[in-house]
Amino acid sequence: MIRPLIAGNWKMNAAGADGRALAEGVGAGAAEVASACDLLVCPPAVVLAAVADVLAGSAVAVGGQDCHEASSGAHTGDLAAAMLAEAGASFVIVGHSERRADHGESDGLVQAKAAAAHGAGLNAIICIGETEAQRDAGETLGVLSGQIAGSIPEGAAAANTVIAYEPVWAIGTGRTPTVDEVAAAHAHIREQIETKIAEAGEARLLYGGSVNPKNARELLAVDNVNGALVGGASLEAASFLEIARQAAS
Ligand code: PEP
Repeated sequence: MIRPLIAGNWKMNAAGADGRALAEGVGAGAAEVASACDLLVCPPAVVLAAVADVLAGSAVAVGGQDCHEASSGAHTGDLAAAMLAEAGASFVIVGHSERRADHGESDGLVQAKAAAAHGAGLNAIICIGETEAQRDAGETLGVLSGQIAGSIPEGAAAANTVIAYEPVWAIGTGRTPTVDEVAAAHAHIREQIETKIAEAGEARLLYGGSVNPKNARELLAVDNVNGALVGGASLEAASFLEIARQAAS
């Protein structure tokens, strides 16, 4: 039995007092679900340390939304993985489709970022997923294979790597794949990570894309789905915790 992880990606929302208040809300409800699932919130970098302070001693871990592949240097505006760790993070998301699209991040760069995360002692949540055009062209599993081959670094293990399957067309749209489509993608990912992640059978595979309290139970019950990466529905403590409750029950 793989312990589920429910991760909230706040994206470019909930900074400052809003971020602290959201963290307080999540922290207040965490004890109820903590015996059966792990909780993580990934706030904007400017509020990460404050959120980590709010959640210190709670069952909720804190993560970054991205890191640079280098450990230091002339990279204006970027953050090293070790800086996130120092601010209180234990996870970092890499290769989110919004970064792949907005910043042209390639599989090779995502791989280097995940390696940097591991080097700083962080768990890397590596995001993969097909576009709608790729799904329509019947390319989904091939795209996932390519992203897995290119984005997972040497030294990846179940203890330091989480894979998030996020169909690009399902992110923020209210649309989700069918449970059969999710099952097929996750079974394929489980098979493909065998040679890339040590103890691959134990690695957590998250589903992400329009997860909400109404559809979470069904999505989280799919084989090889070991939790969720949640965007919009993680911006209210009540809906995030309701998703976690469904993972825990
Ligand atoms: C995400 O961006 O990782 C995500 C899953 O967003 P949403 O839940 O809003 O679709």
